[in-house]
Amino acid sequence: MAPPLSLRFVTSAATLGDLPDSRAEVAIVGRSNVGKSSLLNAIANAKKLALVSKTPGRTQLLNCFSLTEDTQVVDCPGYGYAAVSKSARQSWQERLEDYLEQRQQLAMIVVLVDGEVGPTKLDVAFLRWLRERDLPHQIVATKHDKVRSAKREKRKQDLVDGCEVSRADVLWASAVTGIGVDELRQRIPAWLGVTR
Ligand code: GDP
Repeated sequence: MAPPLSLRFVTSAATLGDLPDSRAEVAIVGRSNVGKSSLLNAIANAKKLALVSKTPGRTQLLNCFSLTEDTQVVDCPGYGYAAVSKSARQSWQERLEDYLEQRQQLAMIVVLVDGEVGPTKLDVAFLRWLRERDLPHQIVATKHDKVRSAKREKRKQDLVDGCEVSRADVLWASAVTGIGVDELRQRIPAWLGVTR
C-alpha cells in the first residue's frame, strides 16, 4: 500500500486568475454526492480534508490542496450542482471550463463517475467536452463496493458503454474497501511529476 498523500488545504479561488502559482496540477471533478470527498479523504487518509469543498460559499470555488511546494490537487466541486439557481450554475460552469481549458500546468483531470448509478447525462456531456478539446483525463468510477459482485461485470460494461470509452479507460475505486485508492496514491504524484 502506498503511503497516503499529504494534501493540505491552501486556498479557494473564484477564478483562474485567483489561483496560486504552481508547477503542476491535477483537477478532480465530479457532481455532488459522487463520492469525491470520501475518495479524497481516503487518498490523504484524513477524515475531513475535503469537507472544505462542501462548506457554504465554497461549493463554487476551486479548492486547492498542495501536495508539494509547487504541486497541487484542485478540487472542483459543484459540477452540476442542483441547489443553486440556473444563472449561478452557468457562471460556475463557465469559470470551471475556463480553468480546465486554459490552465497550462494542468496535468490531469480526474473525472469521478458514480459506479453505483453510472454516468449521468451531464457526466456524458462533460466527457465529450473533454474529448473534443483533447484534455487529458482519467475516469474514476466510485463506490465499487456498492456494486454487487454478481452484477459487477455487467455493471462495469454498462458504465464503460455509458461513458463511451473502453474498459482500460476506467479506474474503479471505493473509499470503503480502499480499492483503487493505492493506485490513485501512485498516479497523482506521477501525473504531477513528483517522485516519492
Ligand atoms: P461528494 O458530495 O462527491 O463529496 O460525496 P461524499 O464523499 O460526501 O459521498 C456521498 C455519499 O456517498 C455519502 O453518503 C458517502 O458515505 C457515500 N460514499 C462515498 N464514497 C463511497 C464508497 O466508496 N462506498 C460507499 N458504499 N459509499 C460511499
